[in-house]
Formats: sequence, C-alpha cells, structure tokens
Amino acid sequence: MVKPSPLDKLRQVVATCQACRLHRGRTQAVFDRGNPHAPLMIVGEAPGEDEDRTGLAFVGKAGKHLNNLLQAARVPSDAYYASNVIKCRPEKNRFPEDGDEPKTCRGYLVEQIKLVKPKAIIVTGKQALRFLLLWGTHEEYDPLHPWINKQFRRRDLFNDIRFLVCYHPSYLMRTEIEEDEEAWIQSVGELWTFVEHKLAKTPPAPMPFRDIRPAPVVPRMGRNLFGKNRGQIL
Ligand code: URA
Repeated sequence: MVKPSPLDKLRQVVATCQACRLHRGRTQAVFDRGNPHAPLMIVGEAPGEDEDRTGLAFVGKAGKHLNNLLQAARVPSDAYYASNVIKCRPEKNRFPEDGDEPKTCRGYLVEQIKLVKPKAIIVTGKQALRFLLLWGTHEEYDPLHPWINKQFRRRDLFNDIRFLVCYHPSYLMRTEIEEDEEAWIQSVGELWTFVEHKLAKTPPAPMPFRDIRPAPVVPRMGRNLFGKNRGQIL
C-alpha cells in the first residue's frame, strides 16, 4: 500500500473538519486542483457551487477564466496548483465571515503552502489577500487598487515566497475591463519569468517588490480579524 503523503494527510483532516459552521452546508471540502509539485500556487477565496459538487478548486466559470488568463501569461498548465483560503463553500457564495471561518481554514492553507513549497503565489482578490497576508475587515481593502498587480513577500511567515496580488477572475469577468485583464496577464507573466529564473537558478531581473507586514493596531479603524496586527504595505 502506498503511504499517504503529508499533503494527503492534510487533505484528510480538511475533509473531516467541523471547526466552523460551513461544514454543515458543504457537499464536500475542496482542497485543491492541479500539480502539488508545481512552482506556482494560486490562492482564491472559497469554493463555489461547481467546486463544492466536484471537490476541485477553480473548476467553474471563474476557474475556466483563470486557466485562460494563465495561458495568456504563458504559464504551462502543469506549472500551477490551485487552492482557496476557505475550504468549504459558504452558502449562496456569500463572503466568508471574519471569525472562525477564515481563522481555522487559514491554518490549513499555511500548512498546505509549507508542504507544496511554491516559488511564488498569486493571491486572487481582496478576500484572499486579507485572509492570507493581512489582517483587516472587508471594508478596509475596498478598493483593492493600492495592492493590485504588485509583488510582495511576508518574510516573517513565508520566507522568500513571492506573492502577487491580482484581481479575482470573477471580478474580471464581471467588469469586462480590458486594461485590467491586460495588466493581470502582464503582471502574472512577469511573475512567471521570475519563477523560471528561480527554477533555472539564474538570477532574476531586478524587480521592485516589497515586504508586506502587519502594522501596529489602529483602534479607530474597527475590528481586526485576529484581534491585533492589521496589515499594511511598508
Ligand atoms: N472562486 C474561488 O475563489 N475559488 C474557487 O475555487 C472557485 C471560485
């Protein structure tokens, strides 16, 4: 019998997780899709209806658009691995709540990232950004503009993994703004070039990217996801 990998063990834990109320409405937990040895990881918000039905991340309309965008950015289809911050579908595709839902699931994702060890991660959309890299409320990251199509890192949490914050493919489909789509493809293309250099062990072209860190608490700005440390770009 083949011994389960650490990633398969984590998949099993997630499949039976009952840590928040989302487990009551799910058909199944959605752990991932794609090559777990891929150098590039995509992190979305939460599974939708198609993902809940199939058990695979990004397989619905947004997932198909994501595949097309990645292809346009010259990222080979076996070079990426997709997952979400939240592993169970929130009913009626509502935003995951600040509280138990992201708190528990974020731990699973951090573990997943440590096991997959991607060279770079594309964070799609505001929910994924705030739940994975930062701490803060939905309203604080509205609009997403200051963060968008920029590369960051969180050295304290993820060493040298490079993050790129991008619009969610659903947003691009909804708004149909051509420039936003072109900028998405260009910035992901640049990130992919960086990954290729990493894989070939050749120095990547210098590119400005910043450390993204939790900033001191600013009480007047409202509730924090984890009660302290809201994020900002330094
Ligand atoms: N949207 C996401 O953020 N993730 C999915 O898996 C599907 C849609």
